Amino acid sequence: SGRIRVIGGGLAGPEAALVAARMGVEVDLYEMRPVRSTPAHETADFGELVCSNSLKSESENTAPWLLKQEMRRAASPLLECADASAVPAGHALAVDRVEFSRRIGERIEQEPRITVHREEVTHLDEADGITVIASGPLTSSALSAEIGRLTGSGHLAFYDSISPIVEADSIDKERVYFAARWDKGTADYINCPFTKEEYDRFYDALVTAETVQEKEWEKLDYFEGCLPIEELARRGRDTLRFGCMKPVGLRDPRTGKTPHAVVQLRCENLRADSYNLVGFQNHLKYGEQARILRMIPGLEQAKFLRYGQIHRNTYINAPQVLAERLYLREYPGIFFAGQISGVEGYTESIATGMLAGVYAARAAQGQDVMPVPRETGLGSLVNYITKTEAKHFQPANITFDLLVPLDEETRKRIRDKKERHRMQCERALEAFDGWWAGQSGR
Ligand code: FAD
Repeated sequence: SGRIRVIGGGLAGPEAALVAARMGVEVDLYEMRPVRSTPAHETADFGELVCSNSLKSESENTAPWLLKQEMRRAASPLLECADASAVPAGHALAVDRVEFSRRIGERIEQEPRITVHREEVTHLDEADGITVIASGPLTSSALSAEIGRLTGSGHLAFYDSISPIVEADSIDKERVYFAARWDKGTADYINCPFTKEEYDRFYDALVTAETVQEKEWEKLDYFEGCLPIEELARRGRDTLRFGCMKPVGLRDPRTGKTPHAVVQLRCENLRADSYNLVGFQNHLKYGEQARILRMIPGLEQAKFLRYGQIHRNTYINAPQVLAERLYLREYPGIFFAGQISGVEGYTESIATGMLAGVYAARAAQGQDVMPVPRETGLGSLVNYITKTEAKHFQPANITFDLLVPLDEETRKRIRDKKERHRMQCERALEAFDGWWAGQSGR
């Protein structure tokens, strides 16, 4: 019983549709291709992978592995298609993209409860019933306008401006210091101080580094938002020293002096054990970032959880508008999944599609549903997008720092990070099994 509408035939949409249909719900699946395409898609196929063919690591006890294990335990249809189309790729799950899409198409065709509509959805109305929006990072402009209308002004972004994230343990604590500017507020920031020589070397490397070549349609109107750091740097040797590397008010307590420049690292709420390089969104190649960011005093041995990026991406400000069960707080019949919900990546998009499928189907059947537990990988991803600070919200991949940390005592006792990760994964899978048994047993 029940009927839902799913918008988007990429990754999250087909997953949500197949999951909901399996639960007994009729599904209208809308995909605008080939009538209208996006600047990145080349086919009209479901589940087209627009760039790489990798669904990331399969190494045990890594965060992407955990997410996939949870999805496998819930018999995620798209992950089954991926597993069945896998090609050798070392420790990663890579797929034959044509075969992957073919299998998804076949499953949709064989599912009598799914009706496919090849048309662009340009209007959103609660009266149209329960809807899952999975229209992706390149959502058509008519639909974007509708989403903007429903979410309220300023809660829809059109590009990512992501700063790098570094693992806390890999910061050289001898070289950096905690301080708040002019000692105002709590000293939550780690400061990496530069001498003039260090700054000059860093500057020269930054302005001569290799940047990512963007495609024509990806070219951003940088006036809209923050400039990449290398662009800012090109305006003059000292521009950064008056911007995100401004040292004033940040005296080094060990020397009593103000450094020539400072890079500030901020610990984001809900990201344990990691720090964000404030204002360091950039468009450099990842290899170049690895080289240049390690020239920052204190980050010589840094391990990066994420590199900086700037690219086109439509997504809602999830912490502001989305409830834990992935519907709009203001419109509980409208669900979001995939990249537009504020996650980043193929696997993450499929994962949220799976969840939205479950939640929307239960809503259509008039049944209650428990949200996926916070301890799980999926729950950690959802917890991040719905509960993190809205002001600094940036889309996220699944990484360990989003998971619930182990308690203080265990952390002290178990020094080996691998073992800690194994324990976190074990706890997550246990919690997931419990939740899933409760869902599928209904
Ligand atoms: P999509 O797969 O984009 O699916 C959305 C679908 O909705 C599309 O088929 C679109 O045609 C349709 N649609 C849009 N508007 C409407 C409408 N109004 N009516 C009906 N249908 C509509 N992630 C990775 O993990 N690895 C990568 O290598 C990678 N590369 C990327 C490269 C690019 C250029 C981009 C833009 C993103 C990339 N991503 C990558 C990020 C992300 O994982 C992918 O975009 C992924 O496809 C997102 O899945 P999705 O289901 O949310 O959206």
